[in-house]
Amino acid sequence: MPDCASDTGTGLETRTTTKTMAIGKALRQKVYQKCGGRCGYCGESIKENGFQVDHIISQRNFLTHIVNKWQVPDYLLHLTTDDVNHIDNLMPACRVCNNWKSTNPIEFFRSEIQDQIKRVNSYSSNYRMAKRYGLVEETPKPIVFYFETITVNQPTND
Ligand SMILES: [Zn+2]
Repeated sequence: MPDCASDTGTGLETRTTTKTMAIGKALRQKVYQKCGGRCGYCGESIKENGFQVDHIISQRNFLTHIVNKWQVPDYLLHLTTDDVNHIDNLMPACRVCNNWKSTNPIEFFRSEIQDQIKRVNSYSSNYRMAKRYGLVEETPKPIVFYFETITVNQPTND
């Protein structure tokens, strides 16, 4: 799994500061509804009983990021240190996106996806062969997450 250098510490600094709280059924339902039953990142359809709840700013690094306003997206600048499970910090996700993003900041996740064409060209002879014979065509473009293309359903209470 990808992991950026800044997040590969011992974890000691966050273990003592962030309480991991379970996400209740009602909140989980709100998260599911945020993107109309789709993964907020790739847009794949997800099932309500099997989707994953991603923390945009990970639980592990939440306090460090919030306190230092470090790699906090504009739309999360209003969060306080108690808001790790605030609906705005939670994203419905498919297993693939959640695993890839892991505990990394969202912009790191975006850059990881952006690098995939470079990676398959470097590491996959199958891909290079398929490309040589015109079976695949590269369409490099900026990565836009699904939730950035829709009006996210935001519950007014949290
Ligand atoms: Zn996804």
